[in-house]
Amino acid sequence: MIKTRSLNTVFQEGFNEEPMTQIFDNPADFAEDALDGLVAANRRYVARVDGGVVRSTEVPAGQVAVVVGGGSGHYPAFAGLVGPGLAAGAVCGNIFTSPSGGQVYRVAKAANAGGGVLLSYGNYAGDVIHFGEAQQRLNAEGIETRTVLVTDDIASAPLDQIAQRRGIAGDLTVFKIAGAAAEAGLDLDAVERLAVRANHCTRSLGAAFDGCTFPGAAEPLFQVPAGQMSLGLGIHGEPGISDHPMPTASELAEMLVSRLLEDKPDNAGDRVVAILNGLGRVKYEELFLLYGKIEKLLTAAGLTVVEPECGELVTSLDMSGLSLTLLWLDDELERFWAAPADTAGFRKGNLAPRARRQLAGPAEAAAAEGEDATAAASGLGRLAAEVLAHVQDAVVEHEAELGRLDAIAGDGDHGRGMRRGVEAAAAAAREAAAAGASVQRVLTAAGEAWSERAGGTSGALWGSALQAAGRTLGNKTIYARGDAAVAVTAFTDAITALGKAVPGDKTMVDALLPFRGAFQSAFNGGAPVAAALAAGAAAAQEAAKATASLRPRKGRARPLAEKSLGHPDPGAVSLGLIAARMADCLTVGQDLSLSESRLATSASEEGVPA
Ligand code: ADP
Ligand code: MG
Repeated sequence: MIKTRSLNTVFQEGFNEEPMTQIFDNPADFAEDALDGLVAANRRYVARVDGGVVRSTEVPAGQVAVVVGGGSGHYPAFAGLVGPGLAAGAVCGNIFTSPSGGQVYRVAKAANAGGGVLLSYGNYAGDVIHFGEAQQRLNAEGIETRTVLVTDDIASAPLDQIAQRRGIAGDLTVFKIAGAAAEAGLDLDAVERLAVRANHCTRSLGAAFDGCTFPGAAEPLFQVPAGQMSLGLGIHGEPGISDHPMPTASELAEMLVSRLLEDKPDNAGDRVVAILNGLGRVKYEELFLLYGKIEKLLTAAGLTVVEPECGELVTSLDMSGLSLTLLWLDDELERFWAAPADTAGFRKGNLAPRARRQLAGPAEAAAAEGEDATAAASGLGRLAAEVLAHVQDAVVEHEAELGRLDAIAGDGDHGRGMRRGVEAAAAAAREAAAAGASVQRVLTAAGEAWSERAGGTSGALWGSALQAAGRTLGNKTIYARGDAAVAVTAFTDAITALGKAVPGDKTMVDALLPFRGAFQSAFNGGAPVAAALAAGAAAAQEAAKATASLRPRKGRARPLAEKSLGHPDPGAVSLGLIAARMADCLTVGQDLSLSESRLATSASEEGVPA
């Protein structure tokens, strides 16, 4: 038996008589308070920024910033992996929850040293949406940003669907290789290429003996029956591949090693890094005991183990369990794996001490205000704020209905999330418009606020779409008719690029594409903008109703596809009713500060970009 200590405890005391994670004032503040303390204890490595941490030491100008992150509860991932030779910044969401796009954006911006940003994180749907939103925003601002997802967990999908796999302790190999490449002065292309290669050559498999408990929760998030081991169980309790009676250490070593070797990458060489990772509650001596057996098996299989790691590297609150990661090396990967790194949670080799750096203050944000001097003239910023106020009314009126629809096969939060998002967006827009901001500033402020406050998938999608529309409208005194069409296209593209849903997946995209199609044909046929919007809105509402016959293939509703049959998709319904309200208020909008004529001043009749 490997888990003698905690299993004995379990047998004697029964399961979870009290929460295991018990040091806090207010459990809701756990992640935030823990991060503040982590920074206080590690000022030589990290400094706090809004959304996470960045290095507190000098970074050479032009160095690629590797920005990592995800939910909290995984220390030393992610804030403990920030320092020279590794990450430049870490975005830290709530416990087991993706950070918002705004948090990712702010951390990446603070970490950027002029060489561009590589975002790298484990492949989880929420993280993909929120980091993706930030990537769109950073790129639009001229900070070149790429993404490499970590997909090392062989239990989460078969080898032929490797891109669907989630990321676990393989985070470390990918972050480490990318960070070392950045430290060596390689450019963004090269750092990205090496991170992709590291991910391609990394495989992990975990085993859990007991679940983990949220701070303050009375019940564990999930349980593994006493005396059992669940192989491949995910770090947030996602289902594993098989359950077994608790094995001996030798049996466990054999199970982990043989399955990883069966899954080895193409062209795998015979030099590997082995990482035995504790998930939070396994004693170091137990890990060492198991590691010894693992290394013997790897050697017997003809492999040479290079610079292994054994300890806690990517944890899962107080979960009892561990994972084994193998990174198959080539010369380049070996050089970057072996390169020095110095962070709170991971050290290797010797790095000369770095000078502390001065972090930029809020002055930068203030500098952007200048652009608005000319902007108020178009009145479009004020119009955007007014339309958003009407959209807010529509969402509030339908909040309960949207919640009910989402509860059928989703998690029931669509009404509440949309309301939180649109209220924040309308308030941000009002404030920006009152200060005379351009339509770009009004819409980007609204989009940021929407995404930040709403949480959830739809919030990030709405937020990024508003920001994209704002960016294309820009800051002009006079708008041509075609600008409205370009904004509709940008709005649509942001959602499809970020969410990657296609027609028939039963998402808001099933209403969005008909909206854009009907808008474009009316617009290209010469209809005024408000009339084209009305045509789009009618098509969106029709299409939203028709989603009732579809089975969801994306998002939270996917596992409950059958229950969803006969009911329309909540995101499609909300999109339809928002489009309708926008069209209404622009059509009757004589009392609005913008009239159709203002959008049509130049009377240019250009077509709509596809
Ligand atoms: P969450 O799913 O995070 O709880 P919401 O409940 O606010 O977020 O939104 C659910 C809606 O989001 C779904 O009804 C669907 O329309 C939309 N959605 C989910 N995933 C995607 C995606 N990948 N692309 C486009 N829309 C999506
Ligand atoms: Mg939901």
